[in-house]
Amino acid sequence: MGSLDSPRERERENGNGNGGCRSPGDPKLGDGGMIVVESEAMKKRRASMLPLEVGTRVMCRWRDSKYHPVKVIERRKMPSAGPNDYEYYVHYTEFNRRLDEWVKLEQLDLDSVETVVDEKVEDKVTSLKMTRHQKRKIDETHVEGHEELDAASLREHEEFTKVKNIATIELGRYEIETWYFSPFPPEYNDCVKLYFCEFCLNFMKRKEQLQRHMRKCDLKHPPGDEIYRCGTLSMFEVDGKKNKVYGQNLCYLAKLFLDHKTLYYDVDLFLFYVLCECDDRGCHMVGYFSKEKHSEESYNLACILTLPPYQRKGYGKFLIAFSYELSKKEGKVGTPERPLSDLGLLSYRGYWTRVLLDILKKHKGNISIKELSDMTAIKAEDILATLQSLELIQYRKGQHVICADPKVLDRHLKAAGRGGLEVDVSKLIWTPYKEQG
Ligand SMILES: [Zn+2]
Repeated sequence: MGSLDSPRERERENGNGNGGCRSPGDPKLGDGGMIVVESEAMKKRRASMLPLEVGTRVMCRWRDSKYHPVKVIERRKMPSAGPNDYEYYVHYTEFNRRLDEWVKLEQLDLDSVETVVDEKVEDKVTSLKMTRHQKRKIDETHVEGHEELDAASLREHEEFTKVKNIATIELGRYEIETWYFSPFPPEYNDCVKLYFCEFCLNFMKRKEQLQRHMRKCDLKHPPGDEIYRCGTLSMFEVDGKKNKVYGQNLCYLAKLFLDHKTLYYDVDLFLFYVLCECDDRGCHMVGYFSKEKHSEESYNLACILTLPPYQRKGYGKFLIAFSYELSKKEGKVGTPERPLSDLGLLSYRGYWTRVLLDILKKHKGNISIKELSDMTAIKAEDILATLQSLELIQYRKGQHVICADPKVLDRHLKAAGRGGLEVDVSKLIWTPYKEQG
């Protein structure tokens, strides 16, 4: 313990994990007057550290009312406020980036500030104006996964996309909090909320604009062909070339909920499969997946999203199953484009496990990975990885052998959870894409 000569220094002691305990040996402590001095000192100390630097690590009160460690990613002056009145954009180091958010100073425990600011980031992205360079960067990186980016580009992407711009959107009867940054055109930079037409996906800055639009918009479902209908569920196939604006709007919207998706400006090359719940007011988008018209790497799915109000209802599993049904009709094997989002990977693992283990359970006698692949349209590599992760594969005499003990299979199937909504293949009316002309 250091000397307690000045209140200022004592404060620092407390801040360093002493938890505000006072040394019983110090005659000055316990004196009522000291508390006033101490809070003065606290004020001084706080004033000296404010505004907090970008990069500061500190504890922050979260929505569970508990304090969690955060890193300050960005700060912004509050409108009509004093010199130190900032809001802070923080990343909870224990949580996924989608929980990053703006917080007020009151939520931060300044006594927990770590004095060493790591990797001092320049305070330059306060306004989210896209420089031409950044715009080009995003254009250039379309269609590629992040594994294609070099470390510098990835850092730049993270730097540029670190702060969410649009906080909420209105879509149909839902108001939805967004999760991630999406590079809307620059004229939308100052918007905190956007209003989407739920049918054509045009987006507007003001509610009145949307109301005017809804009176004129004649769409009641996504543009394109309805290729599946079962009960109240319909799937529409939208050609990005024929419906360019819709495709782009869908990408802007989707990026708000996908971290590592790079935006496709070149929607011509894609088909979008948009799943809807239908009622007498129209067909309301639940989620979608996109698919390249021609994929050299046998990708049968590029991006997949279930909108937040419809999550945990089995729609993600339905979309994945649907993508494989299309591959089966094409007579090809397919695999999702990488990188997969965290939620995407979970859903895929579950799907592969259920489909493969169901077959293994029913099948009598030997079965090869090639045969499994032919039956399911799942790429052999994905089958191998799934079975290996479940420790169902052994390597004997230069061959992979599947070991399928029924009890073990049942245990894994139970852990993989239920399959969600089934795709009724008899309701799928579809012919694979062919270039016209
Ligand atoms: Zn519309």
